[in-house]
Amino acid sequence: MAWDGPYVHQFDAETADLLRAIFDFTGVRLGFDPVPLDGPATPAELSARAGRTITEDGIGGLRALATFDEVLSRACISADHPRNLAFIPAAPTRLSVLFDVVVGASSIYAGSWMEGAGAVHAENETLRWLADLAGLPATAGGVFVPGGTVGNLSALVAARQAARARLAAEGRPMPARWRFVCGAEAHSSLYQAAMVLDADIVAVPTGEEGRLTGPLLAAALDDLAGRSDLAGRGDLVGHRDSATPSDGPVHDGVFAVVATAGTTQFGIVDDLRGVVDVCRDRGLWVHADGAYGLAALAAPSARPLFDGIADVDSFIVDPHKWLFAPFDACALIYRDPALARAAHGPQRAGYLDVLDSAVNWNPSDYAIGLSRRARGLPLWFSLAAHGTRAYAEAIETTLATTRAAAAQIAARPELELVRPAELSVVVFRRLGWQDADYHRWSENLLREGFAFVPPTRHDGETVARFAVVNPRTTPADIEAILNTMV
Ligand SMILES: *Cc1c(COP(=O)(O)O)cnc(C)c1O
Repeated sequence: MAWDGPYVHQFDAETADLLRAIFDFTGVRLGFDPVPLDGPATPAELSARAGRTITEDGIGGLRALATFDEVLSRACISADHPRNLAFIPAAPTRLSVLFDVVVGASSIYAGSWMEGAGAVHAENETLRWLADLAGLPATAGGVFVPGGTVGNLSALVAARQAARARLAAEGRPMPARWRFVCGAEAHSSLYQAAMVLDADIVAVPTGEEGRLTGPLLAAALDDLAGRSDLAGRGDLVGHRDSATPSDGPVHDGVFAVVATAGTTQFGIVDDLRGVVDVCRDRGLWVHADGAYGLAALAAPSARPLFDGIADVDSFIVDPHKWLFAPFDACALIYRDPALARAAHGPQRAGYLDVLDSAVNWNPSDYAIGLSRRARGLPLWFSLAAHGTRAYAEAIETTLATTRAAAAQIAARPELELVRPAELSVVVFRRLGWQDADYHRWSENLLREGFAFVPPTRHDGETVARFAVVNPRTTPADIEAILNTMV
């Protein structure tokens, strides 16, 4: 290495060597263009190649690092390869990755303001940028959690607590079951949240469009209210013009509506304006699941899709998906953070009392969890260094690549779009292919280290899908992949 900082002398020779080796590894990894795609291996293969690594005496840092470099890391698919278009891949900036090293070296406890004030301050400025993009008021705030799954669950816990508190304040009885409503194409993490909450999830059919709209939601809510009025009489068939009116917004147990701002499968953005209008009339909490899609708030060309986002009660967006940050980070933001604090914080324990202060912003008061890494800092650093315009441009680049991909698919006689491309997702079929053809094709591409494009299922049919979140993915990459489908 070119550098040999004076502090190296503070370490024994072995640690100094290891420091250089780790920075060498990092430099090589970040310098690849493109990075090797790599691919999975079986436990038996990995045991054979890596040998036993945990021993009584230790194998030494250099050998452990070599094992990671030569064996383990090569059995992990590179999420940031430009032809990795699977699920939702990742494309962290070099600066965000480098700063992740700094975060690790800094031993920051970022669960409380008292212990992590500086880090939490910078995270909060980053959350503010996102809240401003959405148009939320100055009082909005939240926390970076590990992922969208925890973010959705935490927001729904807050929403239910707010509904409970309101019923209690009005002296009304609690419903027998709590439920929340979402569109049929909402993410699987919401089903997991329903299980953890021990609540019911009501998925509203969204038809060919795949979009939850105001009218569809209103009809579904009317139906639920009607059904719960009749439930006591043993008649479970819903009648919207039931003689017994529903007596209030949460009598039927509905405590929230989740609008998806960019479905994972197709990139479809629900009719946020329609959803918030219906919910405002009925006093219902609206949570926007934008784990993937809300990153596009930063792209001027996509902003109109999110009309209505300024009126939601909470939303999430994952910087590790389309905001160029490393795993793992989800920004969870509430319109009224006090409602989240009423549900999540502070955890009760004598030794925590010293942290409990209404004037201090303790991130652990706003989500599931107590101890936390300052996982918002890699995004903060990269955003501070590059500026927000670079983010707008990078997202616009991926949107342009997606449009180019859709145009290439439309122009090829053997290919057909399943639905028009939305945000940065394209789903398409290869005419004449069966399920096994897609899998054979996809497995070959991965085995050759060329591309990672696993097929997906839609309406019982196996189809191909690209998700473009990497500004280094070019129309030429897309063309090269499509050329393998002839
Ligand atoms: C990815 C995703 C989630 C889950 O986020 P994780 O960070 O993987 O936990 C939730 N909702 C949507 C729409 C997603 O795309």
